[in-house]
Amino acid sequence: MTTYSRRTFMEQIGWGLGASLTLASLPAMARERAGVMDNKKLNIALCGLGRYANVLKGGLAASQSCRLAGIVTGTPTKAAQWQSEFRIPDKNSYTYQNFDQIVSNPDIDLVYITLPNGLHKEFTLRAAKAGKHVIVEKPMAFTEKDCQEMIDACRKAGVQLAVGYRLHYDPHHIELKRLGQHKVFGQVRLIEASLGYRLAGIPPDDWHLKKAIAGGGPLMNLGVYCVQSSRYVLGEEPVAVTAQFGPVTMPDLFKEVEENITWQLYFPSGAICTSSCTSNCNVDRFYASADEGYFELQPALSYGPFKGRTSQAAFNFPVVNQQAAQLDDIARHILANKPLPAHISGEEGRKDMRVIEGIYQAATSGQKVDLTS
Ligand code: NDP
Repeated sequence: MTTYSRRTFMEQIGWGLGASLTLASLPAMARERAGVMDNKKLNIALCGLGRYANVLKGGLAASQSCRLAGIVTGTPTKAAQWQSEFRIPDKNSYTYQNFDQIVSNPDIDLVYITLPNGLHKEFTLRAAKAGKHVIVEKPMAFTEKDCQEMIDACRKAGVQLAVGYRLHYDPHHIELKRLGQHKVFGQVRLIEASLGYRLAGIPPDDWHLKKAIAGGGPLMNLGVYCVQSSRYVLGEEPVAVTAQFGPVTMPDLFKEVEENITWQLYFPSGAICTSSCTSNCNVDRFYASADEGYFELQPALSYGPFKGRTSQAAFNFPVVNQQAAQLDDIARHILANKPLPAHISGEEGRKDMRVIEGIYQAATSGQKVDLTS
């Protein structure tokens, strides 16, 4: 059995992601061409210092073009701890109440919003109004309409907006995209992409279980990864969706949001993608069947390390720090005054939210929902 090597990977993806892996070793002129100005880093303020902010800590530490310059938190003990760890001065430490004062702080270029889902829109609008670029975590918002409002606000303020789509920077996913869109194994006919974590034992007051702040259950929290991977592997937008809510096995916890949901996306080429998102078992897989073969990843949609193969060969790609690669690419674009890549833009988040809204509508109504109108 042959394997896809790191070298093949670098050749396949060209300069883009390879840059994040090898930047330090490039001559100064090449780095300048890539839009990286010596000694200039993108100054980031993290907003909401919870679990994912702690993951991003590692990404920031490994990044070459970003610096953690500020924080926004409602917890004074976290403020003290993060300020001391990252030498963040008092003037760069904000609460949710005084956050708008960031407008007059030249030390901060971008606000990375890692708040619960229901606060994404509010803080994107406030950051844009303050003239700061924004990365907002997934799900971008609760509705397509809210996503559009966020896009418009950033455009009006002249700042850039990205969604924290880390998988776009993982070589395994870049390869899935290549295999699907270039039809390396012919037309993809069927995709199965599912993600779930067993949440038994979660405190009943956790925000993930509250509709007002979570927006929904596992579909809202995890579904975007399944929707995204099918969209970018096929390079198509789904035209219709059917969906079914699954059983509630933990009624004490799942009073407001779904515990399980399964859906089917129908694409113009005739391809179908079936996905489940669940809070009652662990699942993390992607499988695509094409006319002349298949390709798959498992684990596939979490932080990895991912394991994958095609019907011909096992994958052998480097393990990258997804967050560092994502942050560096965003920083390179912003520092060079270039528009962010379309595949991580607010517009992409809006398209995902349109599908997610359609999935909820189909599961609630029991009807096939048209996504084209
Ligand atoms: P956490 O609950 O761990 O952290 C959220 C933080 O937001 C809290 O610690 C708190 O920080 C702040 N906060 C402000 N208001 C509230 C509130 N009303 N209730 C709860 N917390 C509040 O969540 P996660 O870090 O897991 O998730 C945050 C976001 O990141 C979500 O949108 C999630 O979907 C996304 N995410 C993305 C991942 C990815 O791989 N891209 C992975 C995990 C999450 P403080 O004390 O500083 O105020």
